[in-house]
Amino acid sequence: MARWVLKCLECGEEWLLEVSYDISEMDRIYHYCSKCGKNTFHKILRMEPL
Ligand SMILES: [Zn+2]
Repeated sequence: MARWVLKCLECGEEWLLEVSYDISEMDRIYHYCSKCGKNTFHKILRMEPL
């Protein structure tokens, strides 16, 4: 389990995503943004220690 800081590329919101797999190899990730209210592309900023 790891926590990743994601940044929405549409609104700039930064939030934490908890996933059980390594996403550090991914350039960007398509995920639901609660601020945009829809799925958007996100940049992976860093991993947060648990
Ligand atoms: Zn957003």
